[in-house]
Amino acid sequence: MKPLIGVTPDVKPTEYIGVRDQYMHSITLAGGIPVMLPISAPEEDLEEIVSRLDGLLLTGGADIDPALYGAEKSPACGEPRPERDRMEMAILRAAVKVKLPTLGICRGCQVLNVFYGGDLVQDIESELGVPNTVHHQEADYRVVTHDIVVEPGSLLAEIGGTDDIHVNSKHHQCVKTLGKGLRLGGRSKNDGIIESFDDPAHPFMLAVQWHPEMLSAERPEALALFKALVEAAKRCGA
Ligand code: MN
Repeated sequence: MKPLIGVTPDVKPTEYIGVRDQYMHSITLAGGIPVMLPISAPEEDLEEIVSRLDGLLLTGGADIDPALYGAEKSPACGEPRPERDRMEMAILRAAVKVKLPTLGICRGCQVLNVFYGGDLVQDIESELGVPNTVHHQEADYRVVTHDIVVEPGSLLAEIGGTDDIHVNSKHHQCVKTLGKGLRLGGRSKNDGIIESFDDPAHPFMLAVQWHPEMLSAERPEALALFKALVEAAKRCGA
């Protein structure tokens, strides 16, 4: 049986929820079955959903409400989506409890860090002095524009080895301080920005700040992240 991977949707101002198909297709390419999750379901329903899933993918999207990590909202922080923040924190409470294999991408990486008690840089350019074009590339998502230095001993190194990874980049926020118990997985080569971490106490909880879903059809090292999630989900569901 192929493992069932829940995928968190984005909330549009038009009251539609949806997810870019590349997230879903990457799960399919990796041998799993993707299923888009609801936003407005109550916490007990999210717990039941988690009990039926084999894995979880937290996708990209809008900035998280800084109140969730105890910070004042900076003028450079985007408009929060409280309903999505609520849903993702609630599903993580259920998923981490049962050690559901989880991959967080971009916003998903940031959500995981906040869930574990870490905090975020609200705007890379205004807080770190790195021009936003470096990490929010103008080029298409399929173009790789910066390198990741992989931390030996991390889950990222276990999946793909310790050679630098070439990645795309579309984020203006990033991890500031890693949450409790999290292990560094990789940093951006030129400025040291944290781009990956994992939870060594969890069988598979991986966060990446770049967008492997836009590269997975062409780059094996990007697809490998989804395959690692699906393999962990198979072990978990067995
Ligand atoms: Mn980046």
